[in-house]
Amino acid sequence: MRKYIIKTYGCQMNEHDSERMSYMLQNLDYTETDSYDDADLIIYNTCIIRKNAELKVYGHLGAMKALKKKNPQLIIAVCGCMMQIKEAREVIREKYKHVDIVFGTKNLSSLPYLLNQFHIAHERIIDVEETDDIDELQNAIRKNKHSAYVNIVYGCDNFCSYCIVPYTRGRENSRSNKSILTEIRSLGIQGYKEITLLGQNVNSYGKDMYPPMSFSELLRQIETIGSVDRIRFLTSHPKDLGEDLIDAMRDLDKVCNHIHLPLQSGSNRILKKMNRKYTIEEYTEKVDKLKSKIPGIAITTDIIIGFPGETEEDFEQTLDAIRKIRYDQVFIFKYSKRVGTGAAKMKDQVDEDIKSRRFQQILDLVNDICYENNSEYLGRIEKVLIEGKSKNDPDKLTGRTESNKIVHLNADDSIIGSIVDVEITGFSSFTLEGKVAK
Ligand code: SF4
Repeated sequence: MRKYIIKTYGCQMNEHDSERMSYMLQNLDYTETDSYDDADLIIYNTCIIRKNAELKVYGHLGAMKALKKKNPQLIIAVCGCMMQIKEAREVIREKYKHVDIVFGTKNLSSLPYLLNQFHIAHERIIDVEETDDIDELQNAIRKNKHSAYVNIVYGCDNFCSYCIVPYTRGRENSRSNKSILTEIRSLGIQGYKEITLLGQNVNSYGKDMYPPMSFSELLRQIETIGSVDRIRFLTSHPKDLGEDLIDAMRDLDKVCNHIHLPLQSGSNRILKKMNRKYTIEEYTEKVDKLKSKIPGIAITTDIIIGFPGETEEDFEQTLDAIRKIRYDQVFIFKYSKRVGTGAAKMKDQVDEDIKSRRFQQILDLVNDICYENNSEYLGRIEKVLIEGKSKNDPDKLTGRTESNKIVHLNADDSIIGSIVDVEITGFSSFTLEGKVAK
């Protein structure tokens, strides 16, 4: 059996693309290994959202040269968002001659064909042609055996000025609701309790379909699938968060009471420069509606600090927004210049030291708020999907509440894969402790 490794960088959509490639390879009688020395095929599924993600890939690829010398039969392939950018492909072409196959985010399904081509001709292949049929059944070897990712829409039309995704994942392209429902029914029958719907902007699902369809309508259709207990989704753009979606989250039992709603900045001046298409007032109004219609909803967000031109006053407004909204989790990112994006050409790039100081300030604030938020869970009974052994403590099990809080507990392995009532007995800023409720 030939052996393969897929090294994945970046977001949940990349993780799921790697799960799909695993399925294709295991159908070609490959078996997965975690030893680079044993591998016959190594695939790098790349991300280009920030500079350091890109540099990591080049670093790892550089290290592969020696391995290829030791094992000339080794096949090295690179795919993912980085390969959608022409300049990055040229770097691979010129500087990484030991890379055999390059493909993209829109011809993932051609991996078996490209491997076969390479075995026949043994010549380097660089092919990022858009050939995938997104309505094709997306089989995958999923890492998580109880909660499954399901792609619903690809690409993004928003062109936030700092973001390279519209250039790597293209225009919004929704899968047909029929192919999504078919996949989810099959996952339910396979025993998956939870589904996470994926898209760069799930809220604009169906806008490109004829006739158009709303995301909330899709949620209502998925709700009718008996074999699935929980529905989650990632990621929502605030400008497209409509009343219909808030009502669907309130009305549908299976839709979990958690939403990830990236704010990015609390300053209207910076939001405008980011081309985010909402103001802090509009955003806060939607958050207030979410909280009033869905009591106890958990809200998480992304914040970019050090966007070009960000002043202390802008930064203070971001801190204010976090204090006011009291998020359940905040993912903080230092602005990273991406060639080809609008913001890359902007003046007043912020110093790295200022970025680091602001990063720490937000982190300290978020730690405090999340600690206080989690203290309110003490003594509560929460429904937790037990996903498996805790990574940090193999004697413990780990799972998630409906509000997406991580819970660790001592319990018998027999409850793995079940949704059980857990009494919360402890908390920290980012996790809860519990025991199976009587
Ligand atoms: S919404 Fe903005 S940040 Fe998100 S993927 Fe689209 S362009 Fe990027």
